[in-house]
Amino acid sequence: MAYGAHVARVRLEHVSKQFGEGDEQVTAVDDISLDIEDHEFMILLGPSGCGKSTLLRMVAGLEDPTAGDVFIGDHRVNDQLPKLRDIAMVFQSYALYPHKTVRANIEFPLKVRGVPKAQRAAEALHAADVLGLTDYMKRKPGQLSGGQRQRVALARAIVRKPAVFLMDEPLSNLDAKLRGDTRTELVDLHRRLDSTFIYVTHDQVEAMTMGSRVAVMNAGRIEQVGTPQEVYDRPASAFVAQFIGTPPMNLLPVGVLGTDDVQVGIRPEHLVLSTGGPLSGTVSMVEHLGHEVLLHAESGAGRLVARVDPASVIPAVGQAVQFDAAPQHLHRFDATSGVRVS
Ligand code: ATP
Repeated sequence: MAYGAHVARVRLEHVSKQFGEGDEQVTAVDDISLDIEDHEFMILLGPSGCGKSTLLRMVAGLEDPTAGDVFIGDHRVNDQLPKLRDIAMVFQSYALYPHKTVRANIEFPLKVRGVPKAQRAAEALHAADVLGLTDYMKRKPGQLSGGQRQRVALARAIVRKPAVFLMDEPLSNLDAKLRGDTRTELVDLHRRLDSTFIYVTHDQVEAMTMGSRVAVMNAGRIEQVGTPQEVYDRPASAFVAQFIGTPPMNLLPVGVLGTDDVQVGIRPEHLVLSTGGPLSGTVSMVEHLGHEVLLHAESGAGRLVARVDPASVIPAVGQAVQFDAAPQHLHRFDATSGVRVS
């Protein structure tokens, strides 16, 4: 049985959304254009309140854009009801029917559609198989772990064979291990299904590990769209530079290592201990994380964080240190706009 036979491109053209009126007006999404290819795994990433859920809800048809157009495939869908849009949405809360078994929960969308019983059972079984749920078909949601419930919600979405999957922070209820496991499952699911995925998160690890591309949002706008590697290696703005990467990029005060109109950024792994280097400070904290050591230092350029090899000689707290960075690892941003200067 092939799932996702009708793959869809999703296009947003100059889409805006305002809530409220007058002094109360909030611009949640501000003139966003985005072209999501067939079978992409597109991540909408950004801090709380940046407008990512609103953007996803406009694709779903749960919010009407104040301006602009939404296309799914070749169709402008602004006026189309959500149920006619060939999408399935999975939220953070799985909203399963507590009194129905796993099998009945998964079959439910097919039952509503009037699919015959035998076919319903076969399709539910296939979806359960894809998500490793075949052993739990007779259980009720209350007898499952959070991760299993989340997978039932996903299975219920995939039996609908939507062209587009919309997911809004679907893993945020799960503990760290389950989140990791389910991330892998989602990537695998995307590979098998041939559907287009649009996935909202504020978790950069999810964005970096799952997305074929990431749209980094800030205050209702998209700051950068690119592959995870592109946004990490060449952040388009100081905002993206600080949002992607743990610990975040060191952003030096304007003028340090650069001119008066440029702010220089250095990733912690590119800040190297170097006697006589141009950035000097005093070690304030040493974090031993096993595979790496994070060295914090107070300097004239503010707090600096360097990622150092645990096998190297680690300076102690209170020790004076100097850092340097290779020229190719200096990121430069316009001091006023924050935009990358090439
Ligand atoms: P989070 O990660 O916290 O869910 P988000 O990036 O998904 O945030 P949105 O939920 O899209 O952000 O909200 C964007 C902005 O629009 C916020 O300032 C929010 O308060 C506002 N907003 C969202 N929905 C409404 C609404 N129905 N009425 C008024 N304002 C709203």
